[in-house]
Amino acid sequence: MKEELFSAVEAEKENLFALIQKLVQIKSYSGDEKEIVEFIVEKMKQFGFDEAYHDSLGNAIGRIGSGPIKIMYDAHIDTVKVTETENWAHPPFDGVIENGKIYGRGSVDEKPAMAGFMVAGKVLKNLYGNDFPFTLYVIGSVLEEDADGYPLYHIIQNEGIKPDYVLLGEPTDLKVYRGQRGRMELKISAAGKSAHGAHNQKGINAIYKMMPIITDIEKLDKKLKPKEPLGKGSITVSNIISKAPSMCSVSDFCQIHLDRRMTTGENKNGVVKELKEIIKKHKSDAKISISDVEGVSWKGTQFSQEAYFPTWVYDEKHPLVDAAMKTSKLATGKAKSGVWSFSTNGVATAGRFGIPTIGFAPGKEELAHSSKEEILLDDLLKATKFYSLFPFELIEK
Ligand SMILES: [Zn+2]
Repeated sequence: MKEELFSAVEAEKENLFALIQKLVQIKSYSGDEKEIVEFIVEKMKQFGFDEAYHDSLGNAIGRIGSGPIKIMYDAHIDTVKVTETENWAHPPFDGVIENGKIYGRGSVDEKPAMAGFMVAGKVLKNLYGNDFPFTLYVIGSVLEEDADGYPLYHIIQNEGIKPDYVLLGEPTDLKVYRGQRGRMELKISAAGKSAHGAHNQKGINAIYKMMPIITDIEKLDKKLKPKEPLGKGSITVSNIISKAPSMCSVSDFCQIHLDRRMTTGENKNGVVKELKEIIKKHKSDAKISISDVEGVSWKGTQFSQEAYFPTWVYDEKHPLVDAAMKTSKLATGKAKSGVWSFSTNGVATAGRFGIPTIGFAPGKEELAHSSKEEILLDDLLKATKFYSLFPFELIEK
């Protein structure tokens, strides 16, 4: 099986490279993915997928087979924006191919996986028709850069698709990634009492109330302990605002915004508790709240989610990780595992729903969101071989 799959993928090499080029050429900023989603759905139909459509949020969804084990391949096809200050060696939307590499926005994060999934699906359909012991869903998810997790949360919650296993196409440099730190965003607000600046002793300054809390948050960050394999959690004050009736008055409101990264064993309750303890220590009445992420998809669908993205990690011995390591060895000659330092759609599948999730794709994580995005086309070919074989290795488990 391995030989026939891999040589069928080899035979599609030029089509695969043309497809990744086309995907890079279609600009698809978060919330503005209509063109690329319609292109992907049309292609999946041409490739013989059993079903291809876009859902009520605007995700592209394709299906192959209808066997009992449900596997979801997800690649988010939105990208972050190109800013004026970035310095690109090749124009970001030309999809330049040179010396065996493709360059451009999304060439790492994470259009290659989408191209690989689609071509793997085409190969599977050509070779095996309708005879699959699994159902394979291929998702081109939207809005991930702004709302990690939400597109898959939507599919599982609202579109009637409940996968048993998930494979993410975020860059892993052909390693099997098996977890990530979680993250959450919080606010702490302090209220004071305004007074004229000339009679400041009559007021209560909200900024002064916040100062010792900020100092202790800085200390807390240094105290957080690392846990393998995800490393250390962190807490950062990312923004501060204050209000006063005028520039000549005592400030009566101060609010800080916090970015908290969570390692194994850290969760929402624990994070809120450690902040409450700081507030209590200073006998403050400051209030903690968890932020919301809100927006509208290209289909006009409104969404909102709490900015809490749970940590998740699987052991190397987990059957899903093990199947991926075996597949990697066959498809690339190597098998290494790792974890992401950034956040992925796994915060929904693994973090919220507890569905075993891993990642495998070409491209280096540290190039994501930079003007240096590039991958080796040969790595994309290897990943596509992986995608074609992986469902069979998995159902053996
Ligand atoms: Zn990504």
